[in-house]
Amino acid sequence: MSRHGLLIDYHYCTGCQTCEVACQQEHGHPPGQSGIKVTEFVMKGRTKPVIIDHLPFPTELCILCAGRTSRGELPACVKHCQANCMQFGLLPELLEEMLKRPRTVLFRPR
Ligand code: SF4
Ligand code: SF4
Repeated sequence: MSRHGLLIDYHYCTGCQTCEVACQQEHGHPPGQSGIKVTEFVMKGRTKPVIIDHLPFPTELCILCAGRTSRGELPACVKHCQANCMQFGLLPELLEEMLKRPRTVLFRPR
């Protein structure tokens, strides 16, 4: 079981899908498949008519870029996210960071 994970701060996610493409390129996934999937939520807001949120969430295909991280490189999705939404690291450190941020998801692969 992995002691590492991904912390995703979706508050700053723009929905650009660069993480999906970066994962496809790194791992050779065919179109429509990726280790991470960005879902768009459209909701009625209290102060705005519409609120659009994007939630990037790893899929079953995510292997936390085992090859890259064993060489000391960042996972492809983390490296290419220009909004700096994602962090890779040890779970206890990510959990500590998670408690400081209001809108985050912590992912650990099986
Ligand atoms: S997590 Fe980053 S790369 Fe992925 S959709 Fe959000 S802003 Fe874009
Ligand atoms: S950590 Fe690697 S395998 Fe997992 S979603 Fe990101 S790029 Fe894909």
